[in-house]
Amino acid sequence: MPAINPLSNPKSIKLNCELCGKVAYIQCQFCRVTYYCSKEHQTTDWNGIHVKICQLLVPLRTQAKLLGSEEERRNKEKDIRRNQKALLEMTRTEAQKHLHESNFELAIPAALQSLRFSMDLNGSSSIDLVPSYLLLGEASIGLNRYPQAEEYLSLAKYAVLKKPDCSHAMRSQLHRNFGKLYASLGKYDEALEQLAADIYYSSLAMGPEHEGTTGGYYHMGNVFVAQEQYESALAMYEKVVEIWYMTLNEAVRTLEDTNVELIDEAVTAESLQMLQRILKIREEHLGVIHTATAECHHILGLLYRYMRNYEKAREHTVKALELFTETAGLDHPSRQIVQQSLNYFDQFQEHNGYL
Ligand SMILES: [Zn+2]
Ligand SMILES: [Zn+2]
Repeated sequence: MPAINPLSNPKSIKLNCELCGKVAYIQCQFCRVTYYCSKEHQTTDWNGIHVKICQLLVPLRTQAKLLGSEEERRNKEKDIRRNQKALLEMTRTEAQKHLHESNFELAIPAALQSLRFSMDLNGSSSIDLVPSYLLLGEASIGLNRYPQAEEYLSLAKYAVLKKPDCSHAMRSQLHRNFGKLYASLGKYDEALEQLAADIYYSSLAMGPEHEGTTGGYYHMGNVFVAQEQYESALAMYEKVVEIWYMTLNEAVRTLEDTNVELIDEAVTAESLQMLQRILKIREEHLGVIHTATAECHHILGLLYRYMRNYEKAREHTVKALELFTETAGLDHPSRQIVQQSLNYFDQFQEHNGYL
């Protein structure tokens, strides 16, 4: 964290805070091209994104006179666009990472920067701004700033409406975020409508059994829990569990046999959150000793194996085995599948020197 540099700002030039847009009084002393209304906003911007882009902003924001031939100027402009594109990608990835870690406060500055780069590259009303609006909307929902979230999501919706050939994946993300917003506001019917549309579009984009569709089912389940409609909630969660079971089975085998990762880290973090909550709700509403609870432990075991957290993996798999034995008996097919999975896990660990 750099020291604050009080700003000697001639009254005629109005400088705005990088984060909130209010009048700025301090300047980053490293790049001298970003300004802040308060130390607090400087710190948030620094931790959220600025630490990674401080020096990279200097050439983009200081308007060096473009000297040389027309060709040289064109090359220089091409360079700038290439840098902006790389920074757009990087800031979006950072924002996404903060969101997956539930660091909503830090996701805002990263998403804001991505919006600025996107506007520089594409103009202020392009469909390409939508991913940044969605990141800002999601972060704002996480911070319970609902009016702001609605504003960002409405901007995204407006851009999507103007673009009939917008991708199914983007539509799915837009509906999912509106669904989460309405759920947070207690508008459950509207939330369910949005989440149904999310499932529809994500099924078109990726296929109905793809892990990308589990978000829609999961959030629908959460809405039903909020409405105390547990039977409907459990049905939605069932779908989430079913898809994750297939996905993780394949992903674990592929990882352990070929060392290829089929699922990226951000997605596993999200699925961990989902499965842990589903386990808790199944325990509360079906019972701790139940085949559905056993099934959840089995899948969590697979997920931890995929995440290479072998201690947790063993804990959940052994628990699944115990519960299946107790509820379904030694010969039950589900129990045998868990036993086989555990045997394979033991071989893998022995082979790799973990045991
Ligand atoms: Zn500010
Ligand atoms: Zn700086």
